[in-house]
Amino acid sequence: SNLLEDVKARVRDVPDFPKPGILFKDVTPVLADPHLFGRVVNAMAAPFRGRHITKVVAVEARGFLLGAPIALALHTGFAPARKPGKLPYKSVMERYSLEYGDDGLQLHEDAVSRGDRVLIVDDLLATGGTAAATARLVSKLGGEVVGFSFLISLDFLPGRERLGAEKVCALLSY
Ligand code: IMP
Repeated sequence: SNLLEDVKARVRDVPDFPKPGILFKDVTPVLADPHLFGRVVNAMAAPFRGRHITKVVAVEARGFLLGAPIALALHTGFAPARKPGKLPYKSVMERYSLEYGDDGLQLHEDAVSRGDRVLIVDDLLATGGTAAATARLVSKLGGEVVGFSFLISLDFLPGRERLGAEKVCALLSY
């Protein structure tokens, strides 16, 4: 059967989460399907096979669920980008702005090395602020951001252009 149709049928729209007026795309039913989960991981890894990726960096928290199996599929290492105060070892930090206020992300300073070819993974691309901050962390540590792989991209928002459209892969676009 058609992967895109199967994924579309499983992504759940939750109105007014986490705030009134926001329509949240919930990917947990995709992960819960034993056949679909593996097909999605394969499809998100596929554009980056043969691109000499050495590390997958994924964003807290749903990004971890896709990033770790994609790292296994691409035979790379994995590193988590986490909210401030969660990582135990020496870390680098990048701040990014949200609609109200700002937030931050950290990477362990040895999570990425000079010359690493990095794929950044998350469940969903919206404004691109989160992924752009993750890319800055990778650059700070001397890594090269080869691309971004998302399950979903919201293409009515400027995330794709902000990251450099040619670097962005998304299974589903809305
Ligand atoms: P951005 O920084 O505006 O691109 O927002 C993307 C980040 O917010 C990602 O880490 C997503 O996991 C999360 N996010 C925003 N909207 C949604 C949604 O509708 N479903 C799932 N995650 C979302």
